[in-house]
Amino acid sequence: MYRILDILKGETGYISGEEIGRKLDISRAAVWKGISRLRQEGYEIEAVTNKGYRLAPYETMYNQKELESGLKTKYMGRPLLFFHETDTTSNRIREFALEGGAEGALAVAESQTAGRGRRGRHWEAPAGTGVWMSLLLRPKMEPASAPALTLLAGLAVAEALEEVTGLSMEIKWPNDILCNGKKIVGILMEMDCEMQEVHFIVLGIGVNVNMAEFPEGLREKATSLYLEGGRTYSRRQTVHSILERFEELYDAFLQSGSFVPFRKRYREKCVNIGREVRVLGREEFPAVVLDVTPEGELLVRRLDTGREEVVFSGEVSIRKEGTG
Ligand code: ADP
Repeated sequence: MYRILDILKGETGYISGEEIGRKLDISRAAVWKGISRLRQEGYEIEAVTNKGYRLAPYETMYNQKELESGLKTKYMGRPLLFFHETDTTSNRIREFALEGGAEGALAVAESQTAGRGRRGRHWEAPAGTGVWMSLLLRPKMEPASAPALTLLAGLAVAEALEEVTGLSMEIKWPNDILCNGKKIVGILMEMDCEMQEVHFIVLGIGVNVNMAEFPEGLREKATSLYLEGGRTYSRRQTVHSILERFEELYDAFLQSGSFVPFRKRYREKCVNIGREVRVLGREEFPAVVLDVTPEGELLVRRLDTGREEVVFSGEVSIRKEGTG
């Protein structure tokens, strides 16, 4: 694979996989494998459909030093803890929080061996292709305001990715981010609190950046920035944009103490409004989504009873009608 690296280093522009293969007398599949392995070592290699591969200008590596450099935040991502491989970055941040770690601390992993979604569902987080990270937050607010923070995180990440890629992102309430109808980001918020006070929050963010394919069973519902944009994107830039945008929105949220200033932007991206969904919680029922409330809850009209009801993000999830 280092012979592939040498070829990339010798080029100023893009070189096709076919041409690399010809030079080394190996197949295109072998070239792709070599490129994947180089990425797992932290080399940023761009791939663009119909053009080929290129070592990212300045050859930024995905590691602690490169992730720290050029970050334009006051406190998000500081300190930054980088792990080559870990079970989940959420666990690292939880430990850091219990030791008294400061707000804004970030754990980033090249790969996670036990990534999880809500209710312990598995989250696919292979090396070399994604951004798997968790942030430590210590907001001075009541636990009841936390659901709005979940939505705010979704909005910040969606806006950051639009800025990096120019692609348009949609939000599935409360905070799944979709691109052309498929899931591209997962966000998981875990809270440690008492009745009146939040101790800390671990905000986990997983972005599918440069995956070229997904395992069986995920293929129909998951996508990546690479698959949608036809080119790879810098994971370092992705991390930086998310931290910068999130810091801006989070500060404004704490200052105003409310989700209202962000509601309009959120609703514009929210794909559920006006659609039929199946609400899954203590009860299961079909409903039409009417709106997202000023508190960030979902206002629905039940199709079974005809009544309007407010749905809270902590308790339920929604599915498109007809897809189970
Ligand atoms: P949901 O509530 O929509 O089921 P979660 O936030 O709980 O979603 O995330 C877990 C689910 O996401 C898994 O059950 C799996 O179907 C899907 N998933 C796992 N890894 C990925 C990934 N890398 N990209 C997109 N979707 C994924």
